[in-house]
Amino acid sequence: MLMSKHFQKFCFGSPAKAASPSSLTSAARVPAEASVKQPATAEDVQGGATGTAQAETAGVYGEQGRKKRQRKVAPPPVRLKPDTEGLPEQLGDKALRLIIVGSNPSDHAWATGCYYSNPANWMWRVLQRTKIAPPSNRGAQDDWLMPEEVGVGFLDVGIGHPGTEQASFSIREIQSWVPDFYRRLTGHMQRACESSGCGCGMCGAPCIVAFAGKRQYLDMSNIGRKGKAKLTRLNVGRQKLRPPGWPFPLSTEVSRHEYSTLAQLLQFCLLS
Ligand SMILES: [Zn+2]
Repeated sequence: MLMSKHFQKFCFGSPAKAASPSSLTSAARVPAEASVKQPATAEDVQGGATGTAQAETAGVYGEQGRKKRQRKVAPPPVRLKPDTEGLPEQLGDKALRLIIVGSNPSDHAWATGCYYSNPANWMWRVLQRTKIAPPSNRGAQDDWLMPEEVGVGFLDVGIGHPGTEQASFSIREIQSWVPDFYRRLTGHMQRACESSGCGCGMCGAPCIVAFAGKRQYLDMSNIGRKGKAKLTRLNVGRQKLRPPGWPFPLSTEVSRHEYSTLAQLLQFCLLS
């Protein structure tokens, strides 16, 4: 596998300076005692976006817990961001190296207020093990620090639409989320441009947008397509096609992966 220019930049570029919490506008402060348990091994993990139904029930920890997977029920999620409702965008105000895009908040992420908070989810272990997350990172409860600290942001296409069962949302429903999703991306790009003292409106675009999950990018790409023009599948990996209305310039790389592949790709890039 060849590493793209942007991924090289992403992997070996110097991270931004540590955040000062007061400088963040899109995130709530998190109590110091808050913690999210992380699963012990990769084998515990399945699923896409911010968690699947399988992941929701597989909240078991460690060697002993894994053996009891069938019977043990995960503890109810605890709200880690008491000052917010639902799952807010975590993009900050500076240009980002990477935006990780899920489909919509899982019930677990919605309840905690933190991206990929389900203990059975890959994301935070991969971000920590690859050192994409800084050493101080405690996991999902520190998602709000990632844009400033390391230039990595989080957003879902269906922000504001919780639900772990992705199949319960129709294509039309998912497509109806897209204008708000684009508004948020455009808003961030403009803020990032202004924060560098520029006024062009475009230079705040991220290096990479990585879609975690199979479905949402296909549904977005099918907006306005009818009959035989409808796409039935897209390859995973780097995307040449951009959905209609896509807000970023072509210099922003777009990749799309099944959830586990995205995690492996991020890990691969850091180890190479
Ligand atoms: Zn600019």
